[in-house]
Amino acid sequence: MSGSVIPVPRAGVSAPALTPRRFVPRPVVGLLAVIVAALIVYGAWVVWGTAEHDPLRDAWLYCAIGALAAGAVGVRAVLVATDRTAMLLLSTGLFLWVGGDVYYTAVVVPIDPQPPVTIADVFYLALYPFLIASLIMMLRSRVSRPPASLWLDALLSALTVAAIAFIWVTGLLVGGDDDPAAAIVNGAYPALDLLTACMIAAILTLLNWRLERMWIMFLIAAGCLAAFDVAYFAGVLEGEMRPGLLLDFGWLLALVLLAFAAWAPPAVVSPPSIGWRGVAVPMVVISLATAVIVFGDFVQVPVSSTVLATTALIVGGGRVAVAFIAVSGDAALRRQQREDSITGLGTRRLVYLRLDDAIAELAPHRECIVLVFDLNGFREVNRSLGHAAGDELLRQVGARIAHGLGREAVVGRVAADEFVAVLTDVASRATVVARANRVIDAVSVPFRIAQTEIEIGACVGLAVCPQHAFTREGVLKAANAALARAKKTRQPVVVFNPDLDELESGTLSLSQDLRRGIRAGEIVCYFQPKLDLTDGLVHCVEVLTRWRHPREGMIFPDVFIPLAERGGFMGAFTRAVLREALSQCRRWRAAGLDVQVAVNLSVTNLVDGDMPGDIGRMLSETEVPANRLILEVTETVLTADETKARQVRGDLQAIGVEISVDDYGKGYSSLRQVRSLHASEVKLDAEFVTGVAENVEQAAIVSSTVKLAHELGLRLVAEGVETRADLAAVARLGCDEAQGYYIRRPAPEEEITKWLWQREGKPWQGLAKHRRSASEQVTAAG
Ligand code: C2E
Ligand code: CA
Ligand code: CA
Repeated sequence: MSGSVIPVPRAGVSAPALTPRRFVPRPVVGLLAVIVAALIVYGAWVVWGTAEHDPLRDAWLYCAIGALAAGAVGVRAVLVATDRTAMLLLSTGLFLWVGGDVYYTAVVVPIDPQPPVTIADVFYLALYPFLIASLIMMLRSRVSRPPASLWLDALLSALTVAAIAFIWVTGLLVGGDDDPAAAIVNGAYPALDLLTACMIAAILTLLNWRLERMWIMFLIAAGCLAAFDVAYFAGVLEGEMRPGLLLDFGWLLALVLLAFAAWAPPAVVSPPSIGWRGVAVPMVVISLATAVIVFGDFVQVPVSSTVLATTALIVGGGRVAVAFIAVSGDAALRRQQREDSITGLGTRRLVYLRLDDAIAELAPHRECIVLVFDLNGFREVNRSLGHAAGDELLRQVGARIAHGLGREAVVGRVAADEFVAVLTDVASRATVVARANRVIDAVSVPFRIAQTEIEIGACVGLAVCPQHAFTREGVLKAANAALARAKKTRQPVVVFNPDLDELESGTLSLSQDLRRGIRAGEIVCYFQPKLDLTDGLVHCVEVLTRWRHPREGMIFPDVFIPLAERGGFMGAFTRAVLREALSQCRRWRAAGLDVQVAVNLSVTNLVDGDMPGDIGRMLSETEVPANRLILEVTETVLTADETKARQVRGDLQAIGVEISVDDYGKGYSSLRQVRSLHASEVKLDAEFVTGVAENVEQAAIVSSTVKLAHELGLRLVAEGVETRADLAAVARLGCDEAQGYYIRRPAPEEEITKWLWQREGKPWQGLAKHRRSASEQVTAAG
């Protein structure tokens, strides 16, 4: 039995879904072991065996090991979806290389003297484009949009490598009496190796040197390939035409390393950021290019090399500019992350960083004190005077706190009206408590905002590291527990005391846990049907959320909605609920159940200017018609930042979603005020409905509310129908819809779907009778 889990989208880079430990299937482990064993046998055979050509060792065993390595990469492509195309490319490249080996041993070896360039070289060289393409593919699956700097790095590396390669090749052409084709082909190997190594370096730069094992292995394999190619090239320069057996071993080793790299478990990579390390690659490459130009002063360097190196330096200039822009953008972002835009004080992030530092560097016999401030009545100011006044108030409060605590304090705003201060290396706790008292006094002096005198109070909870806790979480939790005590007992300053109420620390840790719970998909949607009393059918279900807490069990919205509101993540929460509600609606519609879904919005959602646009987007993504979505808002919304709220409501109305006024009667607004919300229905609070059959006063309220609602063109929904008698009464009194435990308790998706199918097309028994008597009453009265 499970409700529908709300998936919260993961930001950033797509993460391979496999866990490292179980990544390599057992048969593949066997295959890799065989390859290693064969390589060891080959190596030993080379060292202790004959230096002459041995067909069993140099043809059969050699090609078999190469083919097995290429095959292992092929198996990786077949079995694992992650990086499949990349592995397919790599495997193809390796097979081509092996093909070159087969050709070499079968055709080239018997020829005497051996030609310097053969068809085998074409096969060998074919590995590189495949290897490079596969690296690019792997990079692309990890970074969605490579920044300009990467392309510049790649260009820079390529130009420099080309400049160096030209010296080599030209040197050969000038110095040697060999075949120029041989020089070019043999020079191509180390040049391509260098290019591959540069590419891997650039990739690592882009991944911010998060050394995924796979990339390290690729780097080692490429390094190995390059080292042996260079050794061979040196041999060619000396006039040696035939590679030694040790070189053969080296190449084979590189191949096997590539196979192992392919099977290294891919790690979850976090999005790249450009740090100082981003400069390392271009610096090395630019130095090399400079060296080529300087070198040209002493020995003869071909013009093409100088031109290429100069171009590389020009590109390098561009690269430095790009890096500078990235770094300055980074700095702006970092400032944004550390400075609260309203108060100019620190952000939560900054305070946490400072607290971490303070705890790490705490000297013996010294203390670090954390103060958590909370304002009383800030919400009311925000509601009655609007956000601009609220922001101004926060700014002034922040200034008084910072001033009162003195220079040494790091002060930040961590939630809507919550400030945290960290005082490090404190010698006397008493002075801090005295200062905290002074701050509270200062904050209770009235503020002047927009020609209005505003009086608000504040209280503060205080905790000490290391006395109360040794970690950041621990001290903050303790300070919050002290704050809760302060609020409860109406004391201005409370220092944490380990005996503080269990329950207080319980709800506090819960609040910290909610963010995690949302991310972990622990919030589930339950659904409760609304029964249409005119035709006895169910056309709509309300979405009610539950928190399936791993330790605390089921937690109800009355507990966690206020936590989300306080924590400032109600926007994300509601969007997640809407997304799930609309997906469910779409599934029902696809199965042939045409039901509306009603989603509860909170006060903050209704002053969130992005909400209408986001809802519109979700509707079109799920292809649910707008009139299938009802948004339930409480009438207290009427008193929130009205200009903003009106605009948001107007936008919602323009989309075509219905608005329902929830908990009507609990607050103090009149139905006429409700009408200005452009709602299409009103939900009469359960307080007036439950037990209505036995209470004449309640019946009179329901009856008159129904009449007025109908006059104003609003549907009336009775909430809290708990008994058969309640249902009969609300039907008789003319309510349009009913909702309550008697009809159906809220339940997870599967249960409700089953229930909806059972009821599909079958009107609720016995309702028509009550409706008829209601209309008779009206006729009789008329
Ligand atoms: P609400 O919108 O008034 O929802 C109706 C509440 O009354 C639900 O409680 C429901 O389980 C309960 N109820 C239904 N039938 C009966 C009945 O016959 N008798 C009684 N006594 N109660 C009945 P629940 O699910 O605990 O939700 C409580 C409140 O939490 C909701 O009140 C709603 O304001 C809020 N809430 C729930 N889910 C969300 C959400 O996703 N977003 C927001 N913003 N608020 C939510
Ligand atoms: Ca509701
Ligand atoms: Ca309600």
